[in-house]
Amino acid sequence: MSLCKGKEKRGKAAYHGASPVVSAAKFYDYDLVLEKYRDLDVETVREAIKHYKEFQGKCEKRGLSVHSVYKKPREWNDNQRYYVFEFGNAYCNIEKEVHIPSSMQHKPRIVCDFMKRKIFDEVVAEADRIEEETRPQREAEEKRRKEKNAYQASHTIPDLAEEDRQALFAFLEKELEKSECDGTLRLSREWLHTRFNDPEKELAAEIYLEKHGGFCDCEVIMNVKNN
Ligand SMILES: [Zn+2]
Repeated sequence: MSLCKGKEKRGKAAYHGASPVVSAAKFYDYDLVLEKYRDLDVETVREAIKHYKEFQGKCEKRGLSVHSVYKKPREWNDNQRYYVFEFGNAYCNIEKEVHIPSSMQHKPRIVCDFMKRKIFDEVVAEADRIEEETRPQREAEEKRRKEKNAYQASHTIPDLAEEDRQALFAFLEKELEKSECDGTLRLSREWLHTRFNDPEKELAAEIYLEKHGGFCDCEVIMNVKNN
């Protein structure tokens, strides 16, 4: 079963085929910042880290954080080299490959300097588009959240019957084989609606799931089932 994106632990450079010639590469905050310097003198390293921090700042200004920077593991028949930049915010994760020109191979490289403005603007535009596209869903979730808070404040939440729990878990396990958890209780709600067809009971059952650590479908399996 795959976990939803938000809960995936982001892999940092160390896990992404970092250059075996470690002495020629330099990592900062687990991201690749510098390559192919024969002698890693303090000044060069400082310079690379400065560029990297400026790059981080530029991303933050656009509402993005740098999740990971690493060298793309190379296919056996591929002579081209790429850096991979992974960005993210609360709404999305964006991965961008940046080509390393052959003229730059074997030359000293400050990695973040390869993220050119045009490519960066594409990343920002994509992030904005995703934020806009997912807005209705976020608003619906927010509305549902308020409903749940109001209900919980004035009602006792009953336990979900054991046979319902088991049937729900079985349903979710089957569905999450087919599609990824989207970070909401979408599938659980679908099942609860079929089971109860009663808005109040569905709401109470959803609150029950959250009270046991199930704030999205994959967490229902991980936390509610295994508690
Ligand atoms: Zn999930």
